[in-house]
Amino acid sequence: MTVEAHQETLGFQTEIKQLLDLMIHSLYSNKEIFLRELVSNASDAADKLRFQALSDEGLYEGDANLKIWIEVNKENRTLTIRDNGLGMTREEVIANIGTIAKSGTREFFKSLTGDQARDTQLIGQFGVGFYSSFIVADQVTLITRKAGFGAEHGVKWTSSGEGNYTIENVTQNQRGTEVILHLRPEEDEFLQDYQLRSVVKKYSDHIMLPIVMPKITTDQEKNETTIEEEVVNSATALWTRGKQEITEEEYKEFYKHVAHDFDAPLLWLHNKVEGTHEYTLLFYIPSRAPFDLWDRNNRRGVKLYVRRVFIMDDNDQLLPPYLRFMRGIIDSNDLPLNISREILQHNKQIESIRSGSVKKILSALENLASNEPEKYASFWKEFGRVFKEGIIDDFGNRERVAKLLRFCSTHDDNAVPAITLDGYVERMKEGQEKIYYITAETFAAAKNSPHLEIFRKKGLEVLLLHEQVDEWVVTHLTEFQGKKLHSVTKGELDLGQLQDEIEKQATEKAAQEFKPLVEKIKAVLGEKVKEVRITHRLTHSPACLVADEHAMDASLERLLKAAGQTIPNSSPIFEINPEHPIIASIQQENDGERFKEWALILFDQALLSEGGQLDDPAAFVSRLNQMWMTITQPASRLILPG
Ligand code: ADP
Repeated sequence: MTVEAHQETLGFQTEIKQLLDLMIHSLYSNKEIFLRELVSNASDAADKLRFQALSDEGLYEGDANLKIWIEVNKENRTLTIRDNGLGMTREEVIANIGTIAKSGTREFFKSLTGDQARDTQLIGQFGVGFYSSFIVADQVTLITRKAGFGAEHGVKWTSSGEGNYTIENVTQNQRGTEVILHLRPEEDEFLQDYQLRSVVKKYSDHIMLPIVMPKITTDQEKNETTIEEEVVNSATALWTRGKQEITEEEYKEFYKHVAHDFDAPLLWLHNKVEGTHEYTLLFYIPSRAPFDLWDRNNRRGVKLYVRRVFIMDDNDQLLPPYLRFMRGIIDSNDLPLNISREILQHNKQIESIRSGSVKKILSALENLASNEPEKYASFWKEFGRVFKEGIIDDFGNRERVAKLLRFCSTHDDNAVPAITLDGYVERMKEGQEKIYYITAETFAAAKNSPHLEIFRKKGLEVLLLHEQVDEWVVTHLTEFQGKKLHSVTKGELDLGQLQDEIEKQATEKAAQEFKPLVEKIKAVLGEKVKEVRITHRLTHSPACLVADEHAMDASLERLLKAAGQTIPNSSPIFEINPEHPIIASIQQENDGERFKEWALILFDQALLSEGGQLDDPAAFVSRLNQMWMTITQPASRLILPG
């Protein structure tokens, strides 16, 4: 049957053109990785076919012997990587090869700097895949036919990587995909049999599928040449081998295959779990965060196998969302092969595999934190923000997760989070009952907040929480080792036993003395504040805002509003420092208009210093300028902002 070719020439997405240029230049020193990427794709296609064939044997078309072939044609200067896996339809070719379907692509391009060395690292992190063919080839042809479709459904895709590609329908008897690389003139080495074998060994030995190359033997006596298929890799699942038999290099190569990552992993753990349920897990922590890490729904990192057969990689059941940075495999010995997504959701075995896996990961992190703190710090830098979600996601392991958290604090005022809750508790002062923290939008805002003044004066440590997720963490982590976590921006300053008698008396005395001033300020600020009161939490600042004991923290309120939620406006409490000269001077202010202006300026300043936004910033600036003029040029008239 002949096929209507239906040839089309289509343009790449602009990003692909850019990606190709960048890749060819950046990865040239490591060019043989193209073979790893193509073999990896072929092996994934075989895995997918095997899984789909579990419910539809017909897809094998009578040939369940899955393989990858690598062949060379020296005359045409081509290198072909062929598989009899699942194959693709025309639509799939256009979607998978002509566009970059990966999430985070735009972010990736935005993060490019033009600095070669840095961009080279980034491109590895992005995962280069099929396009790496263009590092060595000036023309790439992909011919594919989907399993279960007739021969007339073949598709041929060709491109020289210059900005467009052509696609046409062809007749293709063989199911699966072949990628034919027309090598650039300087890439002769990939036409050499021994060179190819060594690259396959190096990068793809762990691939479970046989990778075969033709072996040509000549019988001198009979003057006969025979061509046999020879398997060039070990073709056993790496994780089924004993730990002692696997080299570090092999672990790393396998990681690059499962994670589609160019860099070596930070850490791996390989365990065979025996008992009621038997399974093997081989997990990796990448050394760098992928671009789509923030997307809680994107969880394709861990693949599920049942007795060496790939089942799926896109499921939420294997690990909780806060561990979505993990990569690797779980291979179960006792799940049924024909397991469906629906069954997975309510499966006791899966639940036990999941909780066992989480425990293994937590132990690995605990070991890393105590034995290799620098490596742990690098883990924290990449994944800390996601890992913190564990406080919310994983109630059962909350205490263990809490111990693994790292924070900034006034202990060292360092912007790199290195403080543990255990360390904080050890340093707590005698009589200190609570773990104090402040939340703010940035590290600087947290570190310089007026609320910390009294704590610094008394040498009390305060955790400086400045990441968005922290707001959620503290709403769930209310206690650690029996000590309550307490926000320093909420409620009355209560230092418990840490406040001495003299201070208490001074506060009470000041409250009496400043009562008229407090009332006057309240009259000016009106609805803007819930209350005005005297405070002793300040040493350098004249005033600050605090939230009511039971109200939401101001920074959480801003966060929710920014996320589009409607939050009822809660008015803050305005606290003034009776020992501050500015407060003393406005107490002396007799001019009613001027008093009002000063009170408004103080309020806006307090709002600014805790990272809040002014309703009318221009009015604040003009008010400040006016007041300044009245001081420096007392004769000038006070023009009030409208
Ligand atoms: P990645 O493998 O990281 O997804 P690639 O650019 O290598 O990125 O491949 C894009 C997609 O093209 C793959 O996800 C797969 O769906 C499809 N693909 C690539 N090679 C093959 C192949 N040999 N057989 C079937 N599908 C393939």
